[in-house]
Parts: sequence; C-alpha cells; structure tokens
Amino acid sequence: MAAERGDHTVYWRERAACLRVDDPDLFFPIGISGLTLAQVEKAKAVCDRCPVMEQCLNWALYVGHVEGIWGGTTESERRAMKRRVARQAENTVTTAA
Ligand code: SF4
Repeated sequence: MAAERGDHTVYWRERAACLRVDDPDLFFPIGISGLTLAQVEKAKAVCDRCPVMEQCLNWALYVGHVEGIWGGTTESERRAMKRRVARQAENTVTTAA
C-alpha cells in the first residue's frame, strides 16, 4: 500500500473519486463555453463528493501549471486563487513596512 511506503502523493490519489468515473476526459475540458461548461459542472460535481478534494486542490496549486479540473477548480480559477494569495501577501508586507 502506498501509505505504508510513505508516498502520500500516491496515497491520496488512490482515494480519488475521479478514478471511478466512466469518462476520465470529463476532467479535461477543451474550451470555455457551451457544452464545455456543462462538462466542467459535471466534473466539479464529482469533485464535490471526493474525499480527497482538499489534497487534490493543494497539489494542483503547489505544482502550478496543471491542465484540467483538480480539486473542484478549473485552471483559470486556480490562477485567480494564486493571484489573490499573492496580492494578500503583498498587502501584508506593505502594511507591515
Ligand atoms: S477533487 Fe476532483 S480531480 Fe481531485 S481527485 Fe477528487 S475527483 Fe479527482
């Protein structure tokens, strides 16, 4: 078992809800409109009931440029999250100075 090897990255992935969907491509939408939006919502619905959603999102934020839906977020949503965190950190430094 992965956890016994101390490989926590592999361990959380073994519990991923997306491993049990019929169509893994669901998590890699192409485009940002029409049917793609429905695909994104379907993928996010799977993430919403995933027991490792937090670990998945943290991994995607840590790694950076990963395509597709991870931790219930799209690439653009993760980029926005990172920008928000960076702005908050910048404001904290500015305020502290
Ligand atoms: S949060 Fe979503 S993408 Fe991440 S492991 Fe769970 S189902 Fe898969």
